[in-house]
Amino acid sequence: MTSFEDIQALLPEGTSKQDIDLIQKAYEFAKEAHKEHKRFSGEPYFTHLEETAKTLIRYEMDAQTIAAGFLHDTIEDTDITEEEMKKEFGEEITNLIKGVTKLGKIKYRGHVRSIESLRKFLIALADDYRVLIIKLADRLHNLQTLEHVREDKQKRIALESIEVYAPLADRLGIGRFKGEIEDAAFKYAYPAEYAETIKILKERAGDTTESLHSIYNKLKEELDSSHVQVTHVDYRIKHAYSLWKKLQKYNMNIDKIYDIVALRVVVSSVEDCYYVLGLIHSLWKPLPGRIKDYIALPKTNGYQSLHTTIFTGDGCIAEIQIRTEEMHAQAEYGIASHYSYKESNEKNGKKFEWVENLKEVKNIGVKSPQDLLKQLKADYLNNRIFVFTPKGDVLDLPEESTPVDFAYAIHSEIGDHIAGVKVNGKMAPLDTKLNSSDIVEVQTKKEGSPSLRWLYFVKTALAKKQIRNYVKEHKSENLLYRVIPKKYLD
Ligand code: MN
Repeated sequence: MTSFEDIQALLPEGTSKQDIDLIQKAYEFAKEAHKEHKRFSGEPYFTHLEETAKTLIRYEMDAQTIAAGFLHDTIEDTDITEEEMKKEFGEEITNLIKGVTKLGKIKYRGHVRSIESLRKFLIALADDYRVLIIKLADRLHNLQTLEHVREDKQKRIALESIEVYAPLADRLGIGRFKGEIEDAAFKYAYPAEYAETIKILKERAGDTTESLHSIYNKLKEELDSSHVQVTHVDYRIKHAYSLWKKLQKYNMNIDKIYDIVALRVVVSSVEDCYYVLGLIHSLWKPLPGRIKDYIALPKTNGYQSLHTTIFTGDGCIAEIQIRTEEMHAQAEYGIASHYSYKESNEKNGKKFEWVENLKEVKNIGVKSPQDLLKQLKADYLNNRIFVFTPKGDVLDLPEESTPVDFAYAIHSEIGDHIAGVKVNGKMAPLDTKLNSSDIVEVQTKKEGSPSLRWLYFVKTALAKKQIRNYVKEHKSENLLYRVIPKKYLD
């Protein structure tokens, strides 16, 4: 456990006194509130809160979010009430904490069907994108300390992280978070594959890095005598999990993978990106078909860069990525990078007008995080509701769906043999319109069978189809078409 001075040292230069005081208050409050608690490892529980907050600092979140990081388990795990929290820290931070607590109640049970629903549900529940980021930071530390947890639970948490949380980070454009979460979970989700991938990574990364190093030296020489200013350069080693995914795609043939290590050149303008690309191609032969212009055509999560793969001349093939500082921040921090992006944008005045124009034309690029969340919700959740089974599986259905739609979404056998339903513990009619967060329990009996009447109120095409099929199989088709007006049959 560290002292507050150590935390303060991590805060960016120029953090206001007010922000520092707020974070310190949260630090001390959480330390006191959780002082009796221990983690599975035997460590003080506060370690977890501190690590969560540190991740939020690393991702350059604002003071409210960092404070909420310290306090994210306080309402749930201590005697502190919501009211007290509001009095101490105000509405905004309390809402962040409540949001994180709400997300924590959702569990993944390994049904492929529910993965996408879960992901959507997490987005639906978060009124503020910062809630999702705190949840990701919380999850990252839980993964990093997974060795102290029961084996079956390890696996569940690891899989949930890979299937639900990492793609969520990806959708938010926070590539770095996605990579960190996947790598932390990989070992527990797929131990044998993890060991194999790490071995390959170790064998290969060294050689390529060396080769890229001499490439960079030569490139730097050329750039020094040009107008281009290189802001920074680094090598990124592919995340283990994403390497494994790629290896699977190429039948585990490592020789087909050229981006285990990539050289990243960050320059100050879009024009310079293209200039550097041209320069590289004049110095080394590019591999045909591997030049990618994600500046003109960004990935759907907003990622922008130029990629090219070259023959290094010493027997290696390597990838080079070229981008501006803003694109770099966007790729690593996604919506979390908004504030730093905005700042540098303003600092540099009109310099990025070119990018601004491009954004307007193509309607891409950096939006405010709240806007992005709204858009994600609109894309994802248009007219959908999320309903639970009594075990906590979540199903994603169209608005105005009924318990019959729910039953058929689980299994046709259940839909075909409904005896009755309970919504939130109470018996309910079959045509009840369900709402998000309802818990629906379907009772079945062997002699139950669908009624044609259901076609008047079911919402999903699946339920309509199953009911029609059942009736066709069990009664005469004539009956079906005589009783039900045609408009209900499509
Ligand atoms: Mn936690």
